[in-house]
Amino acid sequence: IFRDYISGFPKETDMILSTTGTISLKVPEGSDSILLKNLYLSCDPYMRARMTISDSYLPEFVPGSPISGFAVSEVLDSGNPNFKKGDYVWGFSGWEQYSLIDNPDPSSLIKIDYTDVSLSYFTGILGMPGLTAYAGFNKLASPKKGESVYVSAASGAVGQLVGQFAKLMGCYVVGSAGSKEKVDLLKNKFGFDDAFNYKEESDLTAALKRYFPKGIDIYFENVGGKMLEAVLQNMAVHGRITVCGMISQYNLEKPEGVHNLTQLVLKRVRMEGLNVSDHYHLYPEFMELMKQYFMDEKLVYVEDMVEGLENAPAALIGLFTGQNIGKQVVKVSHE
Ligand code: NDP
Repeated sequence: IFRDYISGFPKETDMILSTTGTISLKVPEGSDSILLKNLYLSCDPYMRARMTISDSYLPEFVPGSPISGFAVSEVLDSGNPNFKKGDYVWGFSGWEQYSLIDNPDPSSLIKIDYTDVSLSYFTGILGMPGLTAYAGFNKLASPKKGESVYVSAASGAVGQLVGQFAKLMGCYVVGSAGSKEKVDLLKNKFGFDDAFNYKEESDLTAALKRYFPKGIDIYFENVGGKMLEAVLQNMAVHGRITVCGMISQYNLEKPEGVHNLTQLVLKRVRMEGLNVSDHYHLYPEFMELMKQYFMDEKLVYVEDMVEGLENAPAALIGLFTGQNIGKQVVKVSHE
């Protein structure tokens, strides 16, 4: 349950675990609702914005009500013609064991018909973060073979896939992350050409110069702040920046200003914001591509799974201190 609006870093106590009495595992007679058993919950950085009254693109959480977010769920009962008992779906649900969804929208609660991988993948690589990587890199950034790509927060849900897409496209890819373990993953598991721990670099501009002596053609922005300023100094002429997120700013009372924007003019750089919800029409083509990649064993995926709804608050806030190694998922129930 969401306690109340916050400022600064979220805390575990901003969420309350609550147990209700016995519930009916049937939808109300004559209703068009569906009853979901939630299996996996997705922890996503955008959820922080919903803990504050802001002009974010999703409504704020309601104090005293369950947190909502992306999940993978099983339909236990349905009064709706678009869903039937036994279907698996991914999309918006509640942070609870069972959710009753009134008038579910089939475009935002998507049926899962690919079962060659764990269902939990639909919170990450085959769900919203996966589509974010695809739309933000393959489409918005217009990548070409041989280009130099830099990804920040590179070992996370979105970043690990962006790096692999870039390698599959024949690009040179460098990622940054906040620990040695994550840097090792980037280099030895995800196949990045190089990687560094940004926390160990006192001069980020100089660090990027080392990895990109001829400049960065594509920057996949997940972090913002000082990282973006350093990147701007290192962009190549006609470079592209996909602004996917700026997690370093989400908990600040006042977001930092950004220097070096004149580099956009000097280098004729295109900088474009991304909202994955504009790109759901790409989901079918994305899935076809992903199925082929999985069949050809061209992708690897790392998720960080905790078990139990009671551990969801800690998992969510851990995103903002980099505790997660890979996609952060909470397993709520057995399939
Ligand atoms: P991740 O799995 O990458 O988890 C977040 C990671 O961010 C942490 O593990 C941490 O990694 C890093 N981080 C946290 N705080 C900071 C900080 N102050 N400075 C630098 N890095 C920090 O999350 P996602 O892959 O789900 O999301 C990545 C980005 O994509 C976020 O900015 C998110 O908001 C954005 N996003 C945007 C979407 C859109 O539609 N525009 C959709 C989905 C995601 P480390 O240890 O490496 O620091």
